[in-house]
Amino acid sequence: MVVAEPKPLNEILAMLQPYKKILVAGCKGCVTVCTTGGKKEVEILAAEIRIARKKEGQEADVQEITLERQCDPEYIDQLEGPIKDRDAVLSIACTVGPQYIAGRYMDKMIFPGLNTVFIGGSLEHGVFAEFCQACGSCVIHNFGSLCPITRCAKSLSNGPCGGSSKGKCEISKDVDCVWQLIYDRLKGLGRLDQMTQVVPCKEWTTSRDGGPRKMIREDLRL
Ligand code: SF4
Ligand code: SF4
Repeated sequence: MVVAEPKPLNEILAMLQPYKKILVAGCKGCVTVCTTGGKKEVEILAAEIRIARKKEGQEADVQEITLERQCDPEYIDQLEGPIKDRDAVLSIACTVGPQYIAGRYMDKMIFPGLNTVFIGGSLEHGVFAEFCQACGSCVIHNFGSLCPITRCAKSLSNGPCGGSSKGKCEISKDVDCVWQLIYDRLKGLGRLDQMTQVVPCKEWTTSRDGGPRKMIREDLRL
């Protein structure tokens, strides 16, 4: 999933300060799963904005909506009525959401309420970790299906580096060296021979350094 975290409330209040009629828009996708942008978080954030406004003696007309998703045009349609009389929308989807809404509604101010952090998953309740950088040409089959591009601090395709110690990465004793995890996994699978094979330079043309990417699925366009 896309993992996102809430922006500090003072930043959100500063962004919204000039606007009276606000719509807080959540998303039932990834940000509901990581509990930063679902229906419950919309209710809490809308209440916090109302309370903060009231304290400052300002008008507080804050409405709420939670869309099925904010990364599909058909779900952005759900905003058609609720957005009409609003001065500004605070989207608490991942930051794809505010961009979709901004592209659709040229006459409305749209603000992001979250910081998109990474593509990852939860390790335990309230703890999330990055697992993929969306490089566009996955190579994890070379590494026991663990990603050193993302999970090694140096993105080494032929590791470990000399800093690996007692299974931990040299950047922090709290960070597993993914090359230790790769070794342990391949050993368990009886495939340590893979550790001796030099993995060629990675294909990076599919990554994002060439600018924004687009994927066209001709099979879906028929
Ligand atoms: S190799 Fe690329 S696509 Fe595969 S998990 Fe790593 S970053 Fe993601
Ligand atoms: S210690 Fe391991 S995870 Fe850290 S940079 Fe070196 S090889 Fe990568």
